[in-house]
Amino acid sequence: DDILIAAESLTVGYPIGKGLFNRSVLNAVNGVSLSIRRGSFFGLVGESGSGKTTLGRALLKAAPITAGHARYSDGEVNYDLATLDGAALKDYRKRAQLIFQDPYAALSPRTTVRDIIAEPLEVMGITRTRSDTDDRVREIAAKCRLNLEHLRRFPHAFSGGQRQRISIARALVAGPRFIVADESVAALDVSIQADVLNLLKQLQRDLGLTFLFISHDLSVVAHTCDHVAVMYLGRLVETAPTRALFAAPRHPYTRALFSAIPSLDPDDRGRGQRLTGEIPSPLNQPTGCKFHTRCPHAIDQCRKVEPVLETSGDPSGEGHAVACHRWRELMETVPA
Ligand code: SF4
Repeated sequence: DDILIAAESLTVGYPIGKGLFNRSVLNAVNGVSLSIRRGSFFGLVGESGSGKTTLGRALLKAAPITAGHARYSDGEVNYDLATLDGAALKDYRKRAQLIFQDPYAALSPRTTVRDIIAEPLEVMGITRTRSDTDDRVREIAAKCRLNLEHLRRFPHAFSGGQRQRISIARALVAGPRFIVADESVAALDVSIQADVLNLLKQLQRDLGLTFLFISHDLSVVAHTCDHVAVMYLGRLVETAPTRALFAAPRHPYTRALFSAIPSLDPDDRGRGQRLTGEIPSPLNQPTGCKFHTRCPHAIDQCRKVEPVLETSGDPSGEGHAVACHRWRELMETVPA
């Protein structure tokens, strides 16, 4: 079995409201099922407010799983994340790590780069002596293209791309297998983005890592990920191998995200359906298909019945799944 993470009907809920009578639960992630293969680069896309960050945190056991399951299995250990605690949870913290969204906020300005990278080793009690720690820090720093001189300095002396490399080294120093990279290149210039993405891909190959790569930007996902899941209002609405998704997106939401990517080809401009309106609040969810308030193809059935993510009728056999009542007829009648 080569699945590292398997989520089944995973739900993340937060209690809201005060008092005895007006308490309720806000489900930021609602019944998500997905499988992430070992050694893959799995992309998770959607607008802000889609629940992708919360899903990533739940898979790191850093957000409350209130229903469903998520299983982590790397060949050595097999954990049910919903019930994980005690020593097993401590062990999981070494195996699963987050690369922060904003390296500027994640790095303390008064700590040397060496100490920033070393901290997880000390907190988790992984290395026994200072020289063990130094060896491990130097090794991972070199893999992240940071030299000894860099390690002595403070993070404010570095550019955005270098700071992100420091954040990456810190996330990898404890030897994790699973990395959640949440908008890890969004704060960087486009030219630097490519450098950081190349580094992540190289580290993935060299260290045998598995990535959940969270991004609002489909064009970044296209060049990096082998599989993509699209999220909307806490649900997965489409999931497919990247090639299949880019060749023929099925869900009207995915198609709208695609048409938001600027095209250099003048014949392509203006094609597809632009996304209008705002993603609804999770506190006030539409009935039926959650996308129906913004979908140009919504019919009565869409307002009443929530479509399920299904692979049936998938001719590719590659696991292309979509949650839309009308995807088949739209594929035939509406150009993407
Ligand atoms: Fe649009 Fe209906 Fe499909 Fe939802 S189910 S995406 S409203 S066509």
